[in-house]
Amino acid sequence: MSKELNSYEIAQQQIREAVNNLGLSEMVFDMLKQPTRELTVAIPVEMDDGSIKVFTGYRVQHNFALGPAKGGIRFHPDVSLDEVRALALWMTFKSAVVGLPYGGGKGGVICNPKELSNRELQRLSREYIRSVAPILGPEKDVPAPDVYTNSQVMAWMMDEYSKYKCYNDFGVITGKPIIVGGSLGRNEATARGCTFVVREAAKAIGLNIKGATVAVQGYGNAGSIVANLLHKLGCKIVAVVDSTGGAYNPQGFIPEKLEVFKSEIGTVKGYPGSKNISSEELLTMACDILIPAALENQITEEIAPRIKAKIIGEAANGPTTPGADRILTKNGVLVLPDILANAGGVTVSYFEWVQNNMGYYWSEEEVNSKLEAKMVNAFYEVYKMYKAHKQVDMRTAAYMVSISYVSEAMGVRGWLGEDTKVQKCRKVS
Ligand code: NAD
Repeated sequence: MSKELNSYEIAQQQIREAVNNLGLSEMVFDMLKQPTRELTVAIPVEMDDGSIKVFTGYRVQHNFALGPAKGGIRFHPDVSLDEVRALALWMTFKSAVVGLPYGGGKGGVICNPKELSNRELQRLSREYIRSVAPILGPEKDVPAPDVYTNSQVMAWMMDEYSKYKCYNDFGVITGKPIIVGGSLGRNEATARGCTFVVREAAKAIGLNIKGATVAVQGYGNAGSIVANLLHKLGCKIVAVVDSTGGAYNPQGFIPEKLEVFKSEIGTVKGYPGSKNISSEELLTMACDILIPAALENQITEEIAPRIKAKIIGEAANGPTTPGADRILTKNGVLVLPDILANAGGVTVSYFEWVQNNMGYYWSEEEVNSKLEAKMVNAFYEVYKMYKAHKQVDMRTAAYMVSISYVSEAMGVRGWLGEDTKVQKCRKVS
């Protein structure tokens, strides 16, 4: 049996490869392989029955070379320090690849929100943010939602932090409701960003987006909106699948109608006129564009050789295992890696923070056009790096772009001593 994949080790391997390909020194690897700061907190929370339960929480700050740490807070029973470390590390590179002035951070609490009442969830959210408040702030570390946290949780956390500071500090957290400083366009941002990079990738490889066939794994927030936006660009959405099952129709679906069906029935399975399809059948079917938008480790070494798509746009985080990546590269599939393809969310989080800091708010059109500019620019920067280094895939190229930014910042700040190669590396890309 193969050794179970540890996200932190995978993240470190990805840095190792990019540092080697850029010809950077060991000092860059030593700085990036581990977080700058980690905080573990014990959080006593009063439960509805009057008892006190102590939860364990984390906030990990990976790197500050380009700006304050940025990254979500996850509430989940499986949260572990290694998982939070890996997620924090990925945030450094996700922010850098789209050119945001941020470092990476991530937080988590070991809990099962499904077993908490709304009041208990609110008390846990407030106590957690109080526990980590000394290391947060718009200029230090700016959290956001992640798995099982949402805009309501962000509103409670912003409110609690504002009480701690004794003034309204909207810019301490992003993903808030619009009424308390959230940004228009934030909800669709991940999917919109993914659509922009898929569109540009299609252009780059000479695939006509109009009429291109698309399969989407995961029909939640990210997947359903990507399907809708790609359909608007003229793509044919031929297969979709959620955790219950899937639907296939070679004539193509109208995503708005699928959405209505899913909201009424709870799944896309059984959509009128479609054939039932499993997740594995969807991943390996004949199509031009595959969008994994569900969970991590879906495209494995076993699945990868049977993938027929020309482009994979990773809306999900970590859907492809390292072994599968190697097979896809060998087979000429263009994989748009998660740190690039789903960076639209953190990009509009950045816009939210900018608007909070200015106290001046943009229209949705303005947010979307700024997002488009950032995503298109990031795609071509990564694509150029990929083309310039024949031996690397798009994922490594994305890490190389990110690491060249971060290492340049660390170099000019004097964190790497006299390592002049670091400072020049961006010029060779
Ligand atoms: P979501 O919970 O709204 O949707 C997930 C979807 O995946 C659901 O439709 C669920 O039924 C489906 N699913 C779960 N297990 C499945 C399986 N085994 N096979 C097929 N489908 C399955 O979550 P989301 O917010 O859309 O996030 C999806 C992915 O995108 C995650 O990896 C997340 O980390 C990533 N992501 C999301 C955002 C965002 O802003 N929403 C930002 C960055 C990354």
